[in-house]
Amino acid sequence: MRKRIIAGNWKMFKLSGEAADFAEHIKEQLTASDQVEAVICPPALYLNDLLQRFETTAIKVGAQTMHDTDEGAFTGEISPAMLKDLGVQYVILGHSERRQYFNETDDTVNKKVLAAFNHHLVPIVCVGESLEQREALETVSIVSAQVEKAFQGVTAEQAKQAVIAYEPIWAIGTGKTATADDANEVCAAIRHKVETLYSTDVANAIRIQYGGSVKPENITELLSKDNIDGALVGGASLDPAAFVQLVEAGT
Ligand code: PEP
Repeated sequence: MRKRIIAGNWKMFKLSGEAADFAEHIKEQLTASDQVEAVICPPALYLNDLLQRFETTAIKVGAQTMHDTDEGAFTGEISPAMLKDLGVQYVILGHSERRQYFNETDDTVNKKVLAAFNHHLVPIVCVGESLEQREALETVSIVSAQVEKAFQGVTAEQAKQAVIAYEPIWAIGTGKTATADDANEVCAAIRHKVETLYSTDVANAIRIQYGGSVKPENITELLSKDNIDGALVGGASLDPAAFVQLVEAGT
């Protein structure tokens, strides 16, 4: 039985006071659950503050990206060692905005995935097709190739811990959601890819989220599907009441 995972990706939103208010609100509302895990991925500046605020709760904290080396002359970057040292547990890797605006390729994503595992951080590996690719019926081949490249050199034991977020690019921040059946079909294809790369055991253990305009109104149907183990949520995760509803839908 896979534990569901609802992760909020705040992107570059919220000032420090707003982040603190959000944390205090959800802390009061969310109780630990065996069925669902809640993760907040704030801008890096607020990681430490949120880690402290959530210290006595089951709410986890994740980064939105990281560099792939431990240290070095990389102005502005944050290393996996620094995240681990702070107590961060998750890191989103290969988000389509990182691929689009910061030149991340499948190769950089793979290096970061390997670095995350080396530091016992759990990667949330994002894959997804563009509208053009979907219309050309290339969705499954595109996401399968992204998964294969991202997991090169990752052991079966590590892969079991990973989270994959299937995020069709055309559904991110647009208000357009894949239908629950479409999302489930692609998540099933991703799970099948993991099975061919590793084993049935790994495919049954790995958690696959859907992401793309998820909100309280559509989460229940998405989570009712066999191959969807949670959601990576952008816009709706900025509102504490909505985030609580999204997590509660997973229980
Ligand atoms: C995201 O940022 O990963 C995302 C899915 O955003 P939104 O929920 O706003 O579409």
